[in-house]
Amino acid sequence: MKHQTILLWFRRDLRLHDHEPLFRAWDQGADILPVYVIDPREFGETPFGFAKTGPFRARFLKESLLNLQARLRARGSDLIVLAGQPETLLPDLARQTGATAIFAHKEVTSEETHVEAALEQALFAQGIGLELFWGSTLYHLNDLPMPVQSLPEIFTQFRKQVEKMAGVRPVFETPGQLSLPPAVPAGLTPEAWGLEGEAPDARAVLPFAGGEEAGLARLQDYLWEGDHLRRYKETRNGLLGADYSSKFSAWLALGCLSPRQIYAEVKRYEQLRVKNASTYWLIFELIWRDYFRFVAKKHGNRLFFPGGLKGDSARGRQDDRLFRAWQQGQTGIPFVDANMRELWETGFMSNRGRQNVASFLVRDLGLDWRLGAEWFESQLVDYDVCSNWGNWNYVAGIGNDPRENRYFNVVSQGKRYDPKGDYLRHWLPELAALPAAGIHEPYAEQRRQLAAAGVHLGGNYPHPVVSMDRRRSRA
Ligand SMILES: Cc1cc2nc3c(=O)[nH]c(=O)nc-3n(C[C@H](O)[C@H](O)[C@H](O)COP(=O)(O)OP(=O)(O)OC[C@H]3O[C@@H](n4cnc5c(N)ncnc54)[C@H](O)[C@@H]3O)c2cc1C
Repeated sequence: MKHQTILLWFRRDLRLHDHEPLFRAWDQGADILPVYVIDPREFGETPFGFAKTGPFRARFLKESLLNLQARLRARGSDLIVLAGQPETLLPDLARQTGATAIFAHKEVTSEETHVEAALEQALFAQGIGLELFWGSTLYHLNDLPMPVQSLPEIFTQFRKQVEKMAGVRPVFETPGQLSLPPAVPAGLTPEAWGLEGEAPDARAVLPFAGGEEAGLARLQDYLWEGDHLRRYKETRNGLLGADYSSKFSAWLALGCLSPRQIYAEVKRYEQLRVKNASTYWLIFELIWRDYFRFVAKKHGNRLFFPGGLKGDSARGRQDDRLFRAWQQGQTGIPFVDANMRELWETGFMSNRGRQNVASFLVRDLGLDWRLGAEWFESQLVDYDVCSNWGNWNYVAGIGNDPRENRYFNVVSQGKRYDPKGDYLRHWLPELAALPAAGIHEPYAEQRRQLAAAGVHLGGNYPHPVVSMDRRRSRA
C-alpha cells in the first residue's frame, strides 16, 4: 500500500545506508518523519543491579544519534528524538502528523518484541499499520535454507548450509533528498536526552566514536587505508592496538554499520586486493553473529534462564567478594585482571579476553554465569543482546552445542597470547617492572624467586583469589 506520510522509527539501525525501511519509504515518494525514542526501560537496572546501559554505550548512542540527525538534516530531513515508551509516543506522533504507517526494523529478543506487540495493538485501534523489516543479519531470515524452528544446534552445520544454499542480498541504496511532512513536532534537544556517558581511557584500543560516519570510516580504514584485512586470521587473537581485529562490533551493535555493507566491501577487497583465508574469516565471524541472532529467535527467553539453552540444573554461586574481585580486575590472576580493567576503563575487550574472563568466572570461581553476562551487558560499548548472552551460554557450557564446552586455562592462555607480558604491563601498573618470565604468575613461589632476584611487585597487586596451580593440575 502506498502511504502519503510514513513515520520511520529508528531502533538499533542508526544509519542511512542499507536501511530497508528507509529505502522503502523513500522509494514510495512518501513524506518521512524519522524518530528515535529513548526508552527509560533500557536505562534502568539489571536484575543484579548494574546500569542496563553503562556510560560507554550511553555516550556511543548519543554520538550515533547526533550523527544520524546531522546526516538526515543534510538531506532536508531531521531526526525527532523523544523520551518515553514507543508504544505510547509513536501512535500519538502518527496521529499528529497524519502518518498512515510506521516502518521499522524487527528485533528478536523479548523486551524489544513486547514493545513491537504493544505498539501494533495501539496502532491497530487507529487504523495505522506497522511494517517491520528484517535487517540486522548478513543472511536474511527468509533466505535461510531451513525454518528458524529447525535451525541446527551446531554452528558448523548452520554455517555450511547457509554458505551452500543461501546468498547475501545486495545492500539497499542510500536515499538522496528526503521530504518531511508539513507539520513536524519538536523533539528533545540533545541536552535533554540524558545520555551523558563517558569517553574511554586513553589506553583504549580505539576512541570508539559513535555514528554511521565513524563506522564507515573505520571500515574504510581497516580494509583500504590500513590494508589489515589481508592478515586478519593471523592477528585476530591479539590484545593490544586498534588493528589486530576489525573493531566493527560497536557500530554493528547499534546498526551504524550494516553487515551486508561490510560483506560488499570485503567482496570488493577480494577483487581489488587479495582473497585469502583472512578475508573469508571476517565473513565467518559475521556468520557467528548471525547464528546467535537466529538462535535467540529460535530459543526465546531460554537464552537468559539460569540453566541456559540446555536447561542445565547445576547453579553457580553468587559470592559478592569473588564477583567484585573479577569485576574490578583484582583477582590476582594477571591475564584476567588486565582484561577486566580494560573493560572497566574502556567498555571494550578482545574476543580472546572475553572467552578467558568468562571461562574464569564460571569454571575457576564457580560463580553464576549471569553475573558476568549482566556486567558485560552494562559495560560493553558493543553490547548486543544475542551475541552477548549467546556467547555466555557457550562459555558457561549451557549453550546448544556441546563441542563448545571448553575450559580455558587462563595462565597458559595469557602466556600464549601475551608472551612478553606487554598487554599485562599496559593495564596493570603494579606489574610494570616485571620481566616477561614470571609476569603471568606472580604467585607465592614466583614472588619469592622474584624477590630473591631483587624484583619486587609495585603497588598492592592482590594475591590470587583461587590457586591456579591447583586449577591447572585439575584441568
Ligand atoms: C562472553 C562473550 C561475550 C560477548 N559479547 C558480545 C557482545 O555483547 N557484542 C558483540 O558484538 N560481540 C560479543 N562477543 C563476541 C566477540 O568477542 C566480539 O564480537 C569481538 O570481540 C568484537 O571485536 P571486533 O569487532 O574487532 O571483532 P572481529 O574479530 O573483527 O570480528 C568481526 C565481527 O564478527 C562478529 N563476531 C566476531 N566474533 C564473534 C562471536 N564470538 N560471536 C558473535 N559475533 C562475533 C562481530 O560482529 C565482530 O564485530 C562476545 C564474546 C564472548 C566470548
